[in-house]
Amino acid sequence: MSEPILALTVKAGHGRAFQVKAGQFLTITDVEGQQAADFVAVVQDDMSEKLSPVHTRRQLRSLFFDVGDSLYSSLGRPLLRVVEDTVGIHDANVPACDDTRFAVDFNVTGHRNCLDNMHSGLALYGLSPFDMPEPFNLFQNGPVTPDRRMQVTDPTSNAGDRITFEVLEDLLCAVSSCPQDIIPGNGLRVTDIAISVHASPPSALSAA
Ligand SMILES: [Zn+2]
Repeated sequence: MSEPILALTVKAGHGRAFQVKAGQFLTITDVEGQQAADFVAVVQDDMSEKLSPVHTRRQLRSLFFDVGDSLYSSLGRPLLRVVEDTVGIHDANVPACDDTRFAVDFNVTGHRNCLDNMHSGLALYGLSPFDMPEPFNLFQNGPVTPDRRMQVTDPTSNAGDRITFEVLEDLLCAVSSCPQDIIPGNGLRVTDIAISVHASPPSALSAA
């Protein structure tokens, strides 16, 4: 099996920022299971163009995405394409948890949160908190219920479950291991997320 171009661990409840290039394959793995991984990206050459869940929902005409679907930018361009997904349940609809979420909804100040986790890495590239894209929440389980309400419950992912994207543009990315430990969303146990980048798709890797 070829060595990854990049391999890093997002520690439980923390975040990491990293770069990927067009033509590479980005895999995000739920190491222990039931852990949501918030994911954002901006285009390397023009950081005002963001990976955009709202534009993706319009392009796909769906609240959800599947293998073969692309994820689109705020300018309607495909930035990533799903090439493998061992879970099939992710969220493209709710914002990242932030300081306000914990302070207002749970009366907890100073709690770690996905927005700060992702921004702390992207701030090094000059992004302000207001520049932060809305996230795709990988492994997050946010079904629409029969009465048309939105729910967030524990992920269905098991240890080692992963999603892989073909990278279509050079991107600056950030991932947060969601620190939500007050209500269901991460099995009430916050754990690590693994990131790897390869030159070949995972099917080629496993066949090698
Ligand atoms: Zn979160």
